Amino acid sequence: MITILIVEDEQNISELIRINLTDAGYHCICAYDGAAAAGLIETGSFDLILLDIMLPVINGYELLEYIQPRDIPVIFITARAGVEDRVKGLRLGADDYLVKPFEIIELLARVESVLRRNKKSDRYLEIAGITIDTLSRTVNRGEEAIPLTLKEYELLLLFVRSKNIALFREQIYEKIWGDEYMGDSRTVDLHVQRMRKKMGWEDKIIAVYKVGYRFVVNP
Ligand code: CA
Repeated sequence: MITILIVEDEQNISELIRINLTDAGYHCICAYDGAAAAGLIETGSFDLILLDIMLPVINGYELLEYIQPRDIPVIFITARAGVEDRVKGLRLGADDYLVKPFEIIELLARVESVLRRNKKSDRYLEIAGITIDTLSRTVNRGEEAIPLTLKEYELLLLFVRSKNIALFREQIYEKIWGDEYMGDSRTVDLHVQRMRKKMGWEDKIIAVYKVGYRFVVNP
């Protein structure tokens, strides 16, 4: 299982990140100041570190220098939207950054992408009786392969990785089609409906009134 260290002194933000990453299937450990984080990094084994910059005792930049030789990917979490901070973080070797406040869907996407770039991602995702092979991009229910088009596959992955979160049509469109949403809800609806029919998930990917869709699955 992928283990993520969350270094964030604001307890409500830390908790929000922890709950959502745990829901997405990651194992999370939290540190609330730089010294505690340094201790955990020394003794533990982590696949990814989410690192706040402004921290008590030891700040995020100092911690990053400490993490560097251990070759653990880092995503900076920063409240400062200033370009200088981002550049400094990236120059010091962070893999990516998130600017507070961020949306959960963005957090999940960045975590996923940094893990994938660092080849730490789990190849197989198992959920609701199906197995997704993220390398060959195939989907199986037991022995039976479920044929999906590229867009349907990407949609499926988006829902699986954002399970139990209501996704706006606009978010879905911009994520999957990589284009600005001009209110064309038909495209999204058609693809979602086709995909969930193929998956037999009509009762799992449900319409959310005035929002879009939610993949409902019990933990
Ligand atoms: Ca902070």
